[in-house]
Amino acid sequence: MRAMIFHHAGLRVLRLALMPAASLAPAACRAETPVDSSSASPAKAPRCVRVLIAETADPVRLRAETPLHPLAADGSPLEEVLSTEWTPCQADPGGALSLGSRPLAAEQIEFPGWAAAAGKLSRRTRDGWEPAMTLPGRLLIRRGPRGLTIINEVEIEEYVAGVTAREIPSDFHIEAFRAQSILCRTFCLYQMRSRDHLAYDVLASEGSQVYVGTVAGAAGEKARAAAAETAGLVCTCPRDGKEDIFLTYYSSACGGSSQSAWTFNPSDRIEALSGDVPCDFCQIAPPDCYRWGPVTLPEATVRAAILDRYPRLTSLDRLKSIEATRQAPSGRWVEVRLTDVKGAQWTLPAEHVRLAIGSRVMRSTDCRMSLVAGEVRLENGKGFGHGLGLCQWGMQGQALAGRTAPQILRFYFPGSSLTRVY
Ligand SMILES: [Zn+2]
Repeated sequence: MRAMIFHHAGLRVLRLALMPAASLAPAACRAETPVDSSSASPAKAPRCVRVLIAETADPVRLRAETPLHPLAADGSPLEEVLSTEWTPCQADPGGALSLGSRPLAAEQIEFPGWAAAAGKLSRRTRDGWEPAMTLPGRLLIRRGPRGLTIINEVEIEEYVAGVTAREIPSDFHIEAFRAQSILCRTFCLYQMRSRDHLAYDVLASEGSQVYVGTVAGAAGEKARAAAAETAGLVCTCPRDGKEDIFLTYYSSACGGSSQSAWTFNPSDRIEALSGDVPCDFCQIAPPDCYRWGPVTLPEATVRAAILDRYPRLTSLDRLKSIEATRQAPSGRWVEVRLTDVKGAQWTLPAEHVRLAIGSRVMRSTDCRMSLVAGEVRLENGKGFGHGLGLCQWGMQGQALAGRTAPQILRFYFPGSSLTRVY
């Protein structure tokens, strides 16, 4: 079993960079209108999602099991060919789109037959080429403001299966896979609202939910089965007198109690996200997940991490103290006050401080934090992740105890129901 579950979906969902829809053609299988489960009309749910795979000045590389000719945005065929060997694709900012060594006479391309030819894409990072992604659906590549803009337009259940397979270990109970599929679907459909003016609906990163295309192996198979068995099911709760979808936050292990989302976002003031749900099912989580610490960090390291996230704090001097100024009933810190040696003070959201320090170093904001003799000490840590919404290790614990996916979801989202939107 993997040592941890990674994602902290939700807190950064509002940070998607705005990008005009520009010339990207609407998806062939795209939704007629955004989801409105209050109308309980299955026909209105989107069936296809546009996932932003990358916006990058770096090249990507592509290949397919059979050679493919790209089409320009107007449908005209181009001479170039994508072969069975890795082929670089690049666009310098302000430059032309190129495939292989040749510039293309088009600002946007796609490959007919991409999915049937098992098209693969690999991104380059500072550490080299990432593992190849097998992307289902359509692949659209255009010249964008940062170089390449790459979008995978995929049927939503394939997307749900891909995300679910990455979210939980392959040996999690099938009922946990079913619950996770419903979570991922609802989260995606909620993010898709109000995105019609953008060229994409969700990011492929933790800003939305991590997506790397089709996942092979046991996790992929279980996730595909779970997505198929729960197809069209979403979490809903009463809002303004109607049943409506909501942002189904989830994180690895709550450590004993979930956190209220009400603290962070006024639009989350619904019963389902009220938090403070007691949970000891996540005791089965690996070490450093249910309980963690102590962790000791040099003051200079913490200060540098905070300055990296908050460049406006240029006058921040050596830290004299770090203290919680607001705590949630669950015990988590909500706000942190920094005082430097000159007596200047700043109050920052505790979750931001956690992400600045490192989400795997400061594993949750439910801990004791002190600054003594030039060292920041984190101890008595509980849980891993932001603690909002569903606890994934708790979900596994409940599934092992015989609870079903609907029972698990209703446990973590009080007052919620399952609604079929298609
Ligand atoms: Zn828990």
